[in-house]
Amino acid sequence: MGLIKENVKDLLMQLPKDVNLVCAVKSRRLKEILEAIEAGVKIIGENYIQEAEEHFKVIGNRVKWHLIGHLQLNKVKKAIRIFDMIETLDSLKLAEELNRRCKEMGKIISVLIEVNSAEEPQKFGILPKNLISFIKELSYLENIKVQGLMTMGPNLKDPERIRPYFKLTRELFESIKNLNLNNIEMKYLSMGMSDSYLVAISEGANIIRIGTKIFERR
Ligand SMILES: *Cc1c(COP(=O)(O)O)cnc(C)c1O
Repeated sequence: MGLIKENVKDLLMQLPKDVNLVCAVKSRRLKEILEAIEAGVKIIGENYIQEAEEHFKVIGNRVKWHLIGHLQLNKVKKAIRIFDMIETLDSLKLAEELNRRCKEMGKIISVLIEVNSAEEPQKFGILPKNLISFIKELSYLENIKVQGLMTMGPNLKDPERIRPYFKLTRELFESIKNLNLNNIEMKYLSMGMSDSYLVAISEGANIIRIGTKIFERR
């Protein structure tokens, strides 16, 4: 069995049933991605629209497609043709553009709100203190369906040092859920990557986004 297949199978075996694996494929070759799909990957995570278009042409709807990179306003129209979920909703302008384009196409798109949990100036995402007022504004957009939160957390080697940011995001997730807002569902919490997914799962993640651990020997 090839390395990628082995990695995917090991990972899937290890994950609790309610945790969804998103295979993060930035800069990987098509052949590698296809091997991951053959081994059981059901969701592909793309950072870039152009790469996604190339992969989608070949792979199509055999898998679900999640956008995990920042989405620019001028790429929205292309994005909604491909993606089942945008994990990186990070501004009202983007929400409104997604809503407008989806309305034109008669589509409803699932989104997660990206939270800048460590308040890093170089990162995208809504700051924790602005999250609730931001989400309330989205309730009125009929063609987007808010289904949860996503966070990257800081890039720290020791995953235990990321735990507080996962914990904070989980607390925000719970408090928004308790508000029972119209058209806002808190179903998915996307956090954790190759080095941090176990910590993220222990803090309540039910979507993890994994690249390195699938595609490289460790
Ligand atoms: C690349 C990427 C990942 C996967 O990171 P690995 O450390 O390779 O597992 C997850 N989420 C996002 C947003 C990414 O860009």
